Amino acid sequence: MTEFAFRALPWNILFGIGAVERLPGEMDALGLDRALVLCTPGSQARGRLIAEQLGDRAAGLFANARMHVPATILDEASRRARDLRAKSTVSIGGGSTTGLGKALAARDGLDNVAIPTTYSGSEMTAIWGVTESGRKVTSRNPGVVPKLTIYDPELTLSLPARISASSGLNALAQAVVNVATDKPSPISSALAVEGIRTLARSLPCVVAEPSNLEARSEALYGACIAAGALGVGSTGLHHRLCHTLGGTFNTPHAETHAVLLPHTVAYNATTAAAGTRKVADALGVADAPRGIYELAKELGTPTALGQLGVDERDLDAVAEIVVRPSFPNPAPVTIDRVRALLQNAFRGSPPQRV
Ligand code: NAD
Repeated sequence: MTEFAFRALPWNILFGIGAVERLPGEMDALGLDRALVLCTPGSQARGRLIAEQLGDRAAGLFANARMHVPATILDEASRRARDLRAKSTVSIGGGSTTGLGKALAARDGLDNVAIPTTYSGSEMTAIWGVTESGRKVTSRNPGVVPKLTIYDPELTLSLPARISASSGLNALAQAVVNVATDKPSPISSALAVEGIRTLARSLPCVVAEPSNLEARSEALYGACIAAGALGVGSTGLHHRLCHTLGGTFNTPHAETHAVLLPHTVAYNATTAAAGTRKVADALGVADAPRGIYELAKELGTPTALGQLGVDERDLDAVAEIVVRPSFPNPAPVTIDRVRALLQNAFRGSPPQRV
């Protein structure tokens, strides 16, 4: 057994069909009140229901959460919280809403509760970020991990198959990068392998039959532990590429993960050979990059950066931004190899060991 270090995160999770009904009692038990309910403009009806359910425990509703937490939106939410004398937040929605709750926790010290309705898994990590002038700046701070996360699979039944598929591959990426590595942390890897198995089994069922509650439950559990693996694990080239494309070139978050994952796994496959084999085993395929590529095709997610609005003429700039700071990654990060990876991903070609 090799030596390792491990630091846990303060997760407090309630998982179950109908679990959202327990929100008021759980908030009382934790001593949380005057909650500002957060949601996206498209989920206002759901946000209102949560505020009604909370009754006197709710301070109000902020229904303007946006992808990647724009600094202007954070300011607006912070002002609303102050005006309403809110002492906590309850985020109901995907990673965009959870991200706003985490940013308010970091900036204003508001205790946060998360009720995730996608597979982004943001609630399981200490990573929070804000986007300003086209740049997303992220930090890690265990204090932003929600004081309580309620996973209720029923809330995911309304998530369209297309978003479920790409969000599910976003979750898969969090697990895969913590197995297909040359320096796996054993605890993070154990969570990740279980996450890969569960997601690979459930996502095709979710997409084929979005109202299948059993498949929805499995996918949400898979997303929870995959993100847990990331929360106590690490990131590398894959996340660096996704954040560069999302932050600077405004590509959609989950779809960017879906397109890039087969290519980034292929990039590291020789250096992280044992870990990459473990990913293949968990997926039940012979070759991990090819298996992920085929899974994405089966789920119907985009397979080419060209489909996400990326301009081929920007690929040189993306490669330059990605390699500029040094960051840990199994295989050395060189501009020529990253540029070749981007070209394959742009075309949507099957992954190659560039
Ligand atoms: P999202 O939160 O923007 O949700 C996508 C869309 O789906 C939104 O329009 C939302 O209103 C809608 N939606 C959400 N749940 C729904 C449901 N059950 N039914 C119907 N519609 C629903 O997207 P996302 O992919 O969940 O999150 C992306 C954001 O999360 C990005 O900003 C990303 O950076 C962040 N993220 C952070 C971490 C982290 O560890 N910090 C991890 C993953 C993602």
